[in-house]
Amino acid sequence: MQPEPLHQYVYVSSASRLLSDDELVDLLRTSRENNARDGITGMLLYRGGNFMQAFEGPEGAVRALEARIRQDPRHRDIHGLLDGAVAVRQFPNWTMGFANVERMTEQGEHGVSRLLGSYASAAELVDDPGRALRILVSFRDAMRGV
Ligand code: FAD
Repeated sequence: MQPEPLHQYVYVSSASRLLSDDELVDLLRTSRENNARDGITGMLLYRGGNFMQAFEGPEGAVRALEARIRQDPRHRDIHGLLDGAVAVRQFPNWTMGFANVERMTEQGEHGVSRLLGSYASAAELVDDPGRALRILVSFRDAMRGV
Protein backbone atom coordinates (compact mmCIF):
# COMPACT_ATOMS: atom_id res chain seq x y z
CA MET A 1 0.00 0.00 0.00
CA GLN A 2 1.26 3.53 -0.83
CA PRO A 3 1.95 5.78 2.18
CA GLU A 4 -0.49 8.68 2.54
CA PRO A 5 0.83 11.82 0.73
CA LEU A 6 2.50 14.49 2.85
CA HIS A 7 0.57 17.67 3.45
CA GLN A 8 1.57 21.00 5.01
CA TYR A 9 -0.51 23.74 6.65
CA VAL A 10 0.72 27.21 7.67
CA TYR A 11 -1.35 29.86 9.46
CA VAL A 12 -1.19 32.89 11.70
CA SER A 13 -3.57 33.70 14.57
CA SER A 14 -3.95 35.92 17.63
CA ALA A 15 -4.10 34.62 21.19
CA SER A 16 -7.50 35.33 22.79
CA ARG A 17 -5.48 36.73 25.71
CA LEU A 18 -1.79 36.80 26.61
CA LEU A 19 -0.77 33.27 27.61
CA SER A 20 1.45 32.63 30.63
CA ASP A 21 4.60 30.53 30.37
CA ASP A 22 2.77 27.68 32.15
CA GLU A 23 -0.09 27.80 29.65
CA LEU A 24 2.36 27.72 26.74
CA VAL A 25 4.20 24.78 28.29
CA ASP A 26 0.86 22.97 28.68
CA LEU A 27 -0.14 23.67 25.09
CA LEU A 28 3.22 22.42 23.84
CA ARG A 29 3.15 19.26 25.95
CA THR A 30 -0.24 18.23 24.56
CA SER A 31 0.77 19.24 21.04
CA ARG A 32 3.98 17.20 21.09
CA GLU A 33 2.25 14.11 22.50
CA ASN A 34 -0.53 14.29 19.92
CA ASN A 35 1.84 15.07 17.05
CA ALA A 36 4.16 12.17 17.89
CA ARG A 37 1.10 9.88 17.84
CA ASP A 38 -0.18 11.33 14.53
CA GLY A 39 3.09 11.63 12.56
CA ILE A 40 2.97 15.44 12.58
CA THR A 41 6.06 17.66 12.69
CA GLY A 42 6.27 21.45 12.69
CA MET A 43 7.20 24.75 14.24
CA LEU A 44 5.28 27.26 16.36
CA LEU A 45 6.29 30.88 17.02
CA TYR A 46 4.67 33.03 19.70
CA ARG A 47 5.27 36.74 19.72
CA GLY A 48 3.39 39.29 21.80
CA GLY A 49 0.06 37.51 21.58
CA ASN A 50 0.38 36.28 17.99
CA PHE A 51 1.00 32.76 16.75
CA MET A 52 2.57 31.56 13.53
CA GLN A 53 2.63 27.82 12.94
CA ALA A 54 3.56 25.30 10.26
CA PHE A 55 2.71 21.63 10.53
CA GLU A 56 3.11 18.73 8.15
CA GLY A 57 2.32 15.04 8.01
CA PRO A 58 -0.11 12.58 6.45
CA GLU A 59 -2.94 14.56 4.87
CA GLY A 60 -5.68 13.09 7.07
CA ALA A 61 -3.75 13.91 10.26
CA VAL A 62 -3.03 17.45 9.07
CA ARG A 63 -6.71 18.07 8.25
CA ALA A 64 -7.78 16.70 11.65
CA LEU A 65 -5.28 18.93 13.46
CA GLU A 66 -6.36 21.99 11.48
CA ALA A 67 -9.97 21.32 12.52
CA ARG A 68 -9.00 21.00 16.23
CA ILE A 69 -6.87 24.14 16.11
CA ARG A 70 -9.66 26.14 14.45
CA GLN A 71 -11.97 25.28 17.34
CA ASP A 72 -9.48 26.10 20.09
CA PRO A 73 -10.72 29.03 22.20
CA ARG A 74 -7.15 30.03 23.13
CA HIS A 75 -6.79 31.89 19.83
CA ARG A 76 -8.85 33.63 17.13
CA ASP A 77 -8.48 35.38 13.72
CA ILE A 78 -6.93 32.28 12.20
CA HIS A 79 -5.63 33.04 8.70
CA GLY A 80 -4.63 29.98 6.68
CA LEU A 81 -1.64 30.90 4.48
CA LEU A 82 -0.39 27.67 2.88
CA ASP A 83 -2.36 24.46 2.51
CA GLY A 84 -1.00 21.89 0.11
CA ALA A 85 0.94 18.77 -0.73
CA VAL A 86 4.69 18.76 -0.08
CA ALA A 87 7.38 16.36 -1.21
CA VAL A 88 9.49 16.53 1.96
CA ARG A 89 9.13 17.65 5.56
CA GLN A 90 10.62 21.05 6.48
CA PHE A 91 10.70 20.25 10.22
CA PRO A 92 11.46 16.52 10.26
CA ASN A 93 13.11 16.50 13.69
CA TRP A 94 10.48 18.36 15.68
CA THR A 95 7.13 17.09 16.92
CA MET A 96 6.63 20.85 17.44
CA GLY A 97 9.58 23.22 17.55
CA PHE A 98 8.78 26.31 19.60
CA ALA A 99 10.16 29.82 19.93
CA ASN A 100 8.78 32.46 22.27
CA VAL A 101 10.20 35.30 20.21
CA GLU A 102 9.74 38.03 22.84
CA ARG A 103 11.58 35.93 25.42
CA MET A 104 14.42 35.22 23.00
CA THR A 105 14.81 38.95 22.35
CA GLU A 106 14.87 39.70 26.11
CA GLN A 107 17.58 37.11 26.54
CA GLY A 108 19.51 38.54 23.59
CA GLU A 109 19.74 35.17 21.91
CA HIS A 110 22.00 34.92 18.95
CA GLY A 111 20.62 35.99 15.59
CA VAL A 112 17.10 36.79 16.80
CA SER A 113 17.15 40.52 16.08
CA ARG A 114 18.14 39.76 12.51
CA LEU A 115 15.25 37.31 12.19
CA LEU A 116 12.83 39.79 13.68
CA GLY A 117 13.59 42.12 10.79
CA SER A 118 11.86 39.60 8.57
CA TYR A 119 8.79 39.22 10.86
CA ALA A 120 5.63 40.69 9.37
CA SER A 121 2.05 41.59 10.26
CA ALA A 122 -0.82 39.19 9.50
CA ALA A 123 -1.96 41.45 6.63
CA GLU A 124 1.49 41.38 5.01
CA LEU A 125 1.65 37.61 5.41
CA VAL A 126 -1.73 37.09 3.77
CA ASP A 127 -0.42 39.06 0.77
CA ASP A 128 2.78 36.99 0.62
CA PRO A 129 1.88 33.58 2.07
CA GLY A 130 5.30 32.00 1.45
CA ARG A 131 6.89 34.56 3.75
CA ALA A 132 5.55 32.93 6.93
CA LEU A 133 7.16 29.64 5.95
CA ARG A 134 10.46 31.40 5.22
CA ILE A 135 10.33 33.01 8.69
CA LEU A 136 9.59 29.67 10.38
CA VAL A 137 12.40 27.98 8.47
CA SER A 138 14.85 30.73 9.44
CA PHE A 139 13.94 30.22 13.12
CA ARG A 140 14.39 26.46 12.64
CA ASP A 141 17.88 27.07 11.26
CA ALA A 142 18.80 29.62 13.95
CA MET A 143 17.63 27.30 16.74
CA ARG A 144 19.78 24.47 15.48
CA GLY A 145 22.74 26.56 16.53
CA VAL A 146 21.35 27.54 19.98
P1 FAD B 1 -7.28 18.20 25.36
O1 FAD B 1 -5.94 18.88 25.41
O2 FAD B 1 -7.67 17.31 26.48
O3 FAD B 1 -8.36 19.34 25.14
C1 FAD B 1 -9.76 19.05 25.09
C2 FAD B 1 -10.50 20.30 24.68
O4 FAD B 1 -10.26 21.39 25.59
C3 FAD B 1 -10.08 20.80 23.29
O5 FAD B 1 -11.24 21.29 22.63
C4 FAD B 1 -9.14 21.95 23.60
O6 FAD B 1 -9.11 22.89 22.53
C5 FAD B 1 -9.69 22.50 24.89
N1 FAD B 1 -8.63 23.04 25.77
C6 FAD B 1 -7.57 22.38 26.23
N2 FAD B 1 -6.83 23.16 27.01
C7 FAD B 1 -7.45 24.36 27.06
C8 FAD B 1 -7.19 25.59 27.71
N3 FAD B 1 -6.10 25.74 28.49
N4 FAD B 1 -8.03 26.61 27.51
C9 FAD B 1 -9.12 26.46 26.72
N5 FAD B 1 -9.43 25.33 26.07
C10 FAD B 1 -8.61 24.28 26.24
N6 FAD B 1 -2.62 20.44 19.18
C11 FAD B 1 -1.91 19.45 18.63
O7 FAD B 1 -2.24 18.28 18.81
N7 FAD B 1 -0.81 19.72 17.86
C12 FAD B 1 -0.38 20.99 17.61
O8 FAD B 1 0.62 21.19 16.91
C13 FAD B 1 -1.13 22.07 18.17
N8 FAD B 1 -0.78 23.36 17.96
C14 FAD B 1 -1.54 24.35 18.52
C15 FAD B 1 -1.19 25.68 18.29
C16 FAD B 1 -1.95 26.71 18.84
C17 FAD B 1 -1.57 28.14 18.57
C18 FAD B 1 -3.07 26.41 19.65
C19 FAD B 1 -3.87 27.51 20.27
C20 FAD B 1 -3.42 25.10 19.89
C21 FAD B 1 -2.65 24.06 19.34
N9 FAD B 1 -2.98 22.73 19.57
C22 FAD B 1 -2.26 21.73 18.99
C23 FAD B 1 -4.06 22.36 20.50
C24 FAD B 1 -5.32 21.97 19.75
O9 FAD B 1 -6.04 23.13 19.39
C25 FAD B 1 -6.20 21.08 20.64
O10 FAD B 1 -6.44 21.76 21.86
C26 FAD B 1 -5.52 19.78 20.99
O11 FAD B 1 -5.00 19.17 19.83
C27 FAD B 1 -6.57 18.87 21.64
O12 FAD B 1 -5.82 17.91 22.29
P2 FAD B 1 -6.56 16.70 23.03
O13 FAD B 1 -7.41 16.00 22.05
O14 FAD B 1 -5.50 15.91 23.75
O15 FAD B 1 -7.54 17.39 24.02
